[in-house]
Amino acid sequence: MRAKLLPAALPEDFKTSPDHVRVSMAAAMTLGLRPGRMFRNATCDCVNLLENYPAGCYANCTYCGLARERPGRAQDNSFIRVGWPLFPTDLVAEAVADNLERVGRVCVAMVQDKRASPDLVEITRRLRRRSDVPISALVTATLLDAPKLETIREAGADIVGIGLDAASEAVFFKTRGRGARGPHSWAQHWELARAARRIFGPMKVNCHVVVGLGETDRDLVELFCRLKSEAIAAYLFSFNPEPGTAMADAPRPPLRRWRRIQLTKYLIERYDVPREAIEFDAEGTLSAVSVPRALVDACLADGLAFMTNGCPDRHGAMACNRPFGSYRPGEAFRDYPFVPEDEERPVIRAETRYEDLLRGCDSIGAAGGRVSPTTARGA
Ligand code: SF4
Ligand code: SF4
Repeated sequence: MRAKLLPAALPEDFKTSPDHVRVSMAAAMTLGLRPGRMFRNATCDCVNLLENYPAGCYANCTYCGLARERPGRAQDNSFIRVGWPLFPTDLVAEAVADNLERVGRVCVAMVQDKRASPDLVEITRRLRRRSDVPISALVTATLLDAPKLETIREAGADIVGIGLDAASEAVFFKTRGRGARGPHSWAQHWELARAARRIFGPMKVNCHVVVGLGETDRDLVELFCRLKSEAIAAYLFSFNPEPGTAMADAPRPPLRRWRRIQLTKYLIERYDVPREAIEFDAEGTLSAVSVPRALVDACLADGLAFMTNGCPDRHGAMACNRPFGSYRPGEAFRDYPFVPEDEERPVIRAETRYEDLLRGCDSIGAAGGRVSPTTARGA
């Protein structure tokens, strides 16, 4: 009779962090913890881990599968539309150490729970004790301050991701803050992002930004320019409604809008295209961009702008490619987890129709003469 009480029979409510973590399905397959192969043999070079508590997350973001007010038990709900099986943290740390040739990075994601900050540190330490794998901390800014960020760095994380998600203060309030009966504050997220930037260094901090939460293109461009000026990376996500959430019936961003935002962000981050080079209509939608056609053609030809934005491995190659994170296998890739193939690039070009936005010019920016496509590409 006592066998029924053995740990293996414990319900998931009792298998909490730091002793247990959820592992993204793609990462569980990569580590051999779950059987299966991914569509088009996409690989997953980043092991994404998520803290586990019975209530899921005490925040209430309107688009998130872990939100407090989403119906159902947390462990039955999906997060980013896929299941996240639960494993002992030490087993995962061992599996990472045994698969270092395939694992470019591990990411430990916090949720809103009073245990989440010390547990993030403990999970990071357990990973670090078993291997030198690069580790990102995807933090819940609301629970942290500068000293806690220092502790996370000392535990072994070299990159901090911040789920800013909303591109403007108004959208943040409505989807994550008090407008959503949630705890998060736009000002505090920025304060934490700047503290992380000081502690972790330039481009060692990223803000996740979700396209499709109700923001305008102008909101996004102004955010990209602000982050660029602070040497913080913007990592894009395409909104994909989760069943059962407050935004379950909200539309995804149209593919053309999403592609244009991907390319515009790339031009700002990679080629220093300034804010003044980008114009909007009365609704805040992109209407004109003053960059050389040759530069846009080069970006459309190599396809890099349309790849997933994610933390790098130890060699600088993108590791966190989140295959099928915001689209289903068989649908158009919203972000490509690999360099788009030759035959995919004309399709991307047709989806983007960026030439409709171009204002003829030979150099980047309204000021002119700042960077030529040739020098920029060699930069
Ligand atoms: S804080 Fe993060 S995990 Fe929690 S509801 Fe918001 S988006 Fe989801
Ligand atoms: S990009 Fe990936 S690895 Fe980096 S913080 Fe975000 S989820 Fe984590």
